[in-house]
Amino acid sequence: MPRTMFVLLCSTTLATNPQASHSTPTLSIGLVMRGTKVEKCFPRQELNDRAKVSMVDSTPLRFYFRTAEHLFKQAKIYQMEGDLQTSYILYMRFCNLVISELQKHPDYTNPDHKPWLLALRKSAMTALKETEALKPVLDKKYEDYQEYIRQREAKIRAQAMEAQQQLEMQRKQNTERNLREQQELHWADNPPTQTWSLAKALEGVPGVYPAQPAHRVHSRHHHYDNTVAVSEIQYPEQYQRQYHGRSEAPMPSIQPQQLVPTPTGPPPALPRKPVSLNNAPKLPPKIQIEEDVHEFSRGLRTLIVPVRLLDRFLNIVRPNTIKNLETCGILAGVLSHNRLTVTTLIIPKQTATSDTCSTTNEDELFEYQSERDLMTLGWIHTHPTQTCFMSSVDLHTHCSYQLMLPEAIAIVCAPKHDKDYGVFRLTDPPGIQVITNCRQKPLFHQHPGEDDIYTDACDQGHVELVDLDLEIVDLRRK
Ligand SMILES: [Zn+2]
Ligand SMILES: [Zn+2]
Repeated sequence: MPRTMFVLLCSTTLATNPQASHSTPTLSIGLVMRGTKVEKCFPRQELNDRAKVSMVDSTPLRFYFRTAEHLFKQAKIYQMEGDLQTSYILYMRFCNLVISELQKHPDYTNPDHKPWLLALRKSAMTALKETEALKPVLDKKYEDYQEYIRQREAKIRAQAMEAQQQLEMQRKQNTERNLREQQELHWADNPPTQTWSLAKALEGVPGVYPAQPAHRVHSRHHHYDNTVAVSEIQYPEQYQRQYHGRSEAPMPSIQPQQLVPTPTGPPPALPRKPVSLNNAPKLPPKIQIEEDVHEFSRGLRTLIVPVRLLDRFLNIVRPNTIKNLETCGILAGVLSHNRLTVTTLIIPKQTATSDTCSTTNEDELFEYQSERDLMTLGWIHTHPTQTCFMSSVDLHTHCSYQLMLPEAIAIVCAPKHDKDYGVFRLTDPPGIQVITNCRQKPLFHQHPGEDDIYTDACDQGHVELVDLDLEIVDLRRK
């Protein structure tokens, strides 16, 4: 593959804006449910920030044309599927690239590019109309989302408070019950050995004097007789003076249960088991911020690859492999419901050596894909004489694929090494940045931190091998 260097930098951070504040009394239908979750919405300024693009290298304009085409195509698909925020970002990114950035390219005035530029400008008019129509819709969605979050948090706080109150009440009841049970157990195990008297129990209580002679309360059954007559209590003189002769004098009431008998045995044991809170009301779940369902802020989209792709590719290119010539193919496919699927393997016209291969007549390849709305999702090539790895040439080639589509993969197969193949992508960071900034001239060269530059794409979890049909198109025969 030809070494291509182009860079399309896009802002990748989409943070929530906690300062936004609107008041919408009711939730409108603007919020999109995905399963049990509500689509997270962002203020338009953040969507605009996400749409920034810039060219930082003099990459052939053709690659920017293709990138622009990809952006426009994806924007339309997301719009059709109802993901308006992603659609807006992609339309804006497309407009920024076509209207502002392309003209900075040194090759912009080359008359050969005129048909491309005219077509892209026409699409840019459409994209601008779409973004203008989307703006008020997205603003309303964001307002509704803010209101939804406020209402939800208030409801959860109220539930939490109510549950906490119930919990405390139940704890209190359990503690009281346990203490009561322990007290009864203690009394049953340690019956008093002497007769208890109220008067004796009151000995030493300030202001209460024993009557002369002290009355005794007898108990034949070793039970505490708490039914002590109030008249047996000698009240302080001051009290007697105050209410002397008044039959309605309010006598202080002494409740039997307030009179604690003098224990004769060992002190009551502590409760034998902890207070059971099994029946306590459950606290509501913690406040959950909505799952970030925005397509571009939750990482790589799933890329589905037909499981038979490798075998079928190796069969087709076997004549080259026998001659120790590399062969490459393009993994083309579609975007649907936020998933990318490889549907077509295109073998373009190409030239090859034992260590390199370069596509020729790329217009034919682009045209084939454009006519069928096929996106470029990655590429595959053989190493007929070497093992399976990404050479420096491969890294630079793949960089342009991955900048065009972050999910793009590079499959390398070394047919002479049994089942030796790999599915790779550049790390981000540092791989993308190292390769983008590399200015080394020799075709094959070393990169600093070589081990961290690319990685197994399957380990990232975004590649799924699925038993799917695969169309193979060999443009070399046309
Ligand atoms: Zn290679
Ligand atoms: Zn390099």
